[in-house]
Amino acid sequence: MMLPFDMPGIKKSFLRFSKGTYNWISGLLRLLKRAALAFLTFIILFLLIDLIFPVHNDIRYSKLILSTDNKLLNAALSSDQQWRMKAEIKEVNPLLLKTLINKEDRWFRFHPGVNPIALTRALWQNISSGKRVSGASTITMQVVRMLKPRKRTVANKFLECFKAIQLEMHLSKNEILGLYINLLPYGGNIQGVKAASFLYFAQQPQALSLAQIVTLAIIPNDPNHFRLGIHNQRIVKERNFWLNKLSKRGIFDKQALDDALAEPLNAKRYDAPKQVPHLARLLTRMYPDNPVINTFINPGIQDFVENTVSNEVIMYRGMGVGNAAVVMIDNHTHAIIAYVGSAGFMESQFQGQVDGASSLRSPGSALKPFLYALAMDRGLITPKTILQDIPQNFNGYRPLNYDETFRGRLTASQALALSLNIPAVDLANRVGVDLFNEKLSHGGLKWIGERKKTLGLSVILGGCGVTLTELTRLYSCLAAGGINYPVRFTQADAMQVADTLFSPQATWMIHEILTGLKRPDLPNNFENSVNLPHIAWKTGTSYGRRDAWSFGYNPEYTVGVWVGNFDGTGVPELSGADFATPVLFKIFNYLAFNQKPSWFNRPTGLDFRLVCSESGLPPGESCTNLVMDDYIPAVSPNRKCDHQVPVFVNENADISYCRSCLPQAGYRTELYPNLSPGLIAFYEEEQIPYRKIPPHNPLCNRVYHNDSPVIASLTDGKEYILYANAKQQLQLAFTATSDVTEVYWYINDKFFKEATRGQKLFFTPTAGMIKISCSDDKGRNTDIVVKVSFL
Ligand SMILES: [Zn+2]
Ligand SMILES: [Zn+2]
Repeated sequence: MMLPFDMPGIKKSFLRFSKGTYNWISGLLRLLKRAALAFLTFIILFLLIDLIFPVHNDIRYSKLILSTDNKLLNAALSSDQQWRMKAEIKEVNPLLLKTLINKEDRWFRFHPGVNPIALTRALWQNISSGKRVSGASTITMQVVRMLKPRKRTVANKFLECFKAIQLEMHLSKNEILGLYINLLPYGGNIQGVKAASFLYFAQQPQALSLAQIVTLAIIPNDPNHFRLGIHNQRIVKERNFWLNKLSKRGIFDKQALDDALAEPLNAKRYDAPKQVPHLARLLTRMYPDNPVINTFINPGIQDFVENTVSNEVIMYRGMGVGNAAVVMIDNHTHAIIAYVGSAGFMESQFQGQVDGASSLRSPGSALKPFLYALAMDRGLITPKTILQDIPQNFNGYRPLNYDETFRGRLTASQALALSLNIPAVDLANRVGVDLFNEKLSHGGLKWIGERKKTLGLSVILGGCGVTLTELTRLYSCLAAGGINYPVRFTQADAMQVADTLFSPQATWMIHEILTGLKRPDLPNNFENSVNLPHIAWKTGTSYGRRDAWSFGYNPEYTVGVWVGNFDGTGVPELSGADFATPVLFKIFNYLAFNQKPSWFNRPTGLDFRLVCSESGLPPGESCTNLVMDDYIPAVSPNRKCDHQVPVFVNENADISYCRSCLPQAGYRTELYPNLSPGLIAFYEEEQIPYRKIPPHNPLCNRVYHNDSPVIASLTDGKEYILYANAKQQLQLAFTATSDVTEVYWYINDKFFKEATRGQKLFFTPTAGMIKISCSDDKGRNTDIVVKVSFL
């Protein structure tokens, strides 16, 4: 090889220097200049080659999923089909590094990539013995070779020397050592000390014994000849030879040597761990470039949840319910600590590879608590506010509650605890569907977020798609007092600064309602049990009984459970109460063993007040039955109760008067219940007795100002949710002044039918906005517009 010092120009200047003594200084200067120039050329040339042929030290690693306590949960082959698990230097027993350096390259810490002395010696040995003797390879040169194996030629040896220097230029000694321990071959497709530790010793690389360390140090020299699990005897011989040799070099003491020599070699090929398979796949998609993913999975809890899910599902399968999924969040770290996507990943018969925790499903009633919280924050309700559970004017299949009855009047607490549909739809109408969907979208429900401009009220009854993970996270916002923390999958996900979805006062009132035990979503066999966990919980069952849900939380944890079939088959018995809640309760009862009981503190800014039990509003003059209620001052409804109205009546209370027809002979004032037209219609239909205001004075000549017909069955501007394929119809009913005998109905400006007084008509609506007109036989007309959507 032509070295820069051999350049002819330099020899020339030597000549000139020796000839003329008087100009030796200038000669020396010239010599130095040329030497510097030559060196600079060499450097530039090197850098140029370095630039054109950069070092490639990117290694494709196996994807490793670690638990919160750094245990290996799941490992997958690298994209080039190798078991190559990335180990950091600090993860490896320092004795292993020391042994490797001592055995392979004692001057590793000092040479620039090649070891000139060793190289010269090897060259000399090659020439003198006449055959090719390997050796003199530094660890750096070995790394170069392992990164890209080349044929063993002299030219390639030079190339490897160059590449080694190049590598040293770019990487620190520890970085090179890091590549080395991750690339060492251990036979078959196992590379690196970490994969070897796990797959041959079922151990973390930190926990290796001295005998195991020396074993791992010798195998890469001839991995096919030293196959762990196959050539164990041969390996022990070689191991003991090296143990003695290294002991003489003073790497470890006599006692350690004796122990190591006596240690049997129990290596065999272990399978790579395959826990949390669904989460592993999800995280691989989310973080494709991270070879090691540190999760928050708690192995003990994960195991219990997995076992509970598979045990329960085995019982459910006899009823045609095939699968379940569970997600669990730590309410303090906002991290996922357990994640079960199906009852068994390997069960192809039940599509076990489907990830039930991240599949889009209908939530049924499971979104209702968020609507009630929002309605509390909007000042529409408090827990004791009276809501109406009365049928809308539907014909055929009606949007019934779970038990197909209507309850008339009940408190908001009861309506939520009983998960009633009609009060929820009414409340969503009042809160505003856009605001509600905006909240849900902000709380992480992506499907709703992508469609929030077109979605209607049906969302509140489950006419939308959510994932178990998303919804569990949304429930954890309730546990966090309404604060909206993004969920953390890995320890690399920072705890983010969060905003607020609901006030702490509203969420506290929701906790109280969801903790109550008088409710239909208590599982059958839990009704008399004293083993109910102290949690707030809510169930959901989707339309067609395809999905059963149960969500629960306490200050520590939020757990979400889904039960159903991955192919969407509905099962008549399926319900959140009987299928999902038992799993939820078992998980919380397990957690309660290791947890001291605690509960949420009542937040400041939430006060008590007495309200009228008939309305939930501050009492008016005639309200006598008062109850205690929670309320948010300056937010909660504050108008006085008017559940009774004073009416002027005659002595027998069979005629009522207005101010313009009060008789001279005398009258008295009587209180009557102030009922909405809808509730009166419901009482009439169900023949429920109520106190009616007596008919108006027949002699009254009161003038009606607006005497066009009133459409009584439908409300202008309201959205009606119908069940698809249920042949539901909307009712057309009217009230009109006494001079009217007949009216004419129009739908979207097209004549529909004529009707006489008291005649009930029905029509089958299509989705969208519908204009309904009612014209009477005197030519007076009323128009309303309603929206119809299908679940
Ligand atoms: Zn009252
Ligand atoms: Zn009158």
